[in-house]
Amino acid sequence: MQRHVEIAGGGIGGLGLGMMLARHGWSVRVHERSTEIREVGAGIYVKNNSIRVLEHYGIYSKIEALGTKLERARIRDSQGRVMQERQLNGHHRVIVLPRQALVDVLAASAREAGVEILTNSHIVGADIQGALIDDNGRRYAADLVVAADGARSKIRDSLNLGASARELGTLINRYLVPTRSFTREAVTTEHWSGPRRIGITPSGAEHSYAYVVMPRNDTAAARLPLDATDWERSLPFLKDELEVFAKSDSTQYPYMLVDCPRWSLRNLAIIGDAAHGLPPTLGQGAGLTLMNSHALTELVSNSSNVAQGLQHWEKTVRFISDQTQRWSVRYDRFTRQWPQSLQVLRPSIVWAFGHFRFLNERMRIADRGLDLTPVRLS
Ligand SMILES: Cc1cc2nc3c(=O)[nH]c(=O)nc-3n(C[C@H](O)[C@H](O)[C@H](O)COP(=O)(O)OP(=O)(O)OC[C@H]3O[C@@H](n4cnc5c(N)ncnc54)[C@H](O)[C@@H]3O)c2cc1C
Repeated sequence: MQRHVEIAGGGIGGLGLGMMLARHGWSVRVHERSTEIREVGAGIYVKNNSIRVLEHYGIYSKIEALGTKLERARIRDSQGRVMQERQLNGHHRVIVLPRQALVDVLAASAREAGVEILTNSHIVGADIQGALIDDNGRRYAADLVVAADGARSKIRDSLNLGASARELGTLINRYLVPTRSFTREAVTTEHWSGPRRIGITPSGAEHSYAYVVMPRNDTAAARLPLDATDWERSLPFLKDELEVFAKSDSTQYPYMLVDCPRWSLRNLAIIGDAAHGLPPTLGQGAGLTLMNSHALTELVSNSSNVAQGLQHWEKTVRFISDQTQRWSVRYDRFTRQWPQSLQVLRPSIVWAFGHFRFLNERMRIADRGLDLTPVRLS
């Protein structure tokens, strides 16, 4: 008999998992509280682990056509000197594209696979008999129920698992600007000045994506619209870019960290940021989400008992997300809280992480993704 899944959240996690389960023969309904499937106007780094999953489902070619395959990643200091340069190939390959383009491809693929996407459907909780509950009190029962409603997940919190979601001391503004004039090469560059950072990368044929990162207590840096004059004092050679950002729209986010002691309860699963929200320092939140969604699909579809399949899923893949969370927090602390008196040492550490393979591989464990597990990928 066909099994049914109800998913709360129509972001990268809900749409990706919905598409994958539908391809495995499930009937799928996704509930999205917004009036349409929309992402904030910014870019997204899609890394090898999620590229492998998108290839497996035959949709990577659509994404490839909309993005820029990066050749190298650089970190520069406030004088413009290169502290680290890495080649982005093999299991460190990366593509960058506008977020909306990724979500549009996932939504279209989900619909093609037969997924029903209900917008304006606001889920307020789940009951452990296996159902989602919406704000009109309607109950949606299923063989598998999924919370994919983001870092501040209401559904996760309604299950009383002892989970927490907290804001860290870092803020980030993102810009997607319609020019490639300052990103002509297929290179992503982070510019560091004390605890301030700006990352700039090409994002498809027509856009550049930039993220501007600062400690929460640096009120001058956090001003919106961006205070170009103040930022120029930190990164003088980015004058032209800063002027563009100052005239562009941006939304500010705090870095979030989710601690979720377990990822399932009976036949209810928690995926994506709701399960492992992490600072975006390694650009892996969506990567982990898609990779874990594929593992869930394989392991639960191949199990006659959904609850047991979910436990097996968490045991099989969770270590990758846990380690990536820890490294992403370390990266945030290293960039934001490194003592002024030790600034002189920082470039050597940055260089070492680029140069010594074992350090880089440990920090970027997620890049190898499901190859570290028994889960199959074609
Ligand atoms: C600044 C920043 C930069 C990032 N950069 C990258 C990157 O470059 N690469 C990368 O891999 N990851 C990146 N990430 C992480 C990535 O965005 C997330 O990991 C990913 O979006 C998680 O997807 P999700 O579906 O779990 O959650 P979300 O994207 O948060 O989606 C949740 C969805 O659920 C809906 N929803 C919420 N509550 C309800 C409800 N009660 N009922 C119904 N629907 C609901 C929301 O409207 C939303 O559509 C970044 C994150 C941030 C904050």
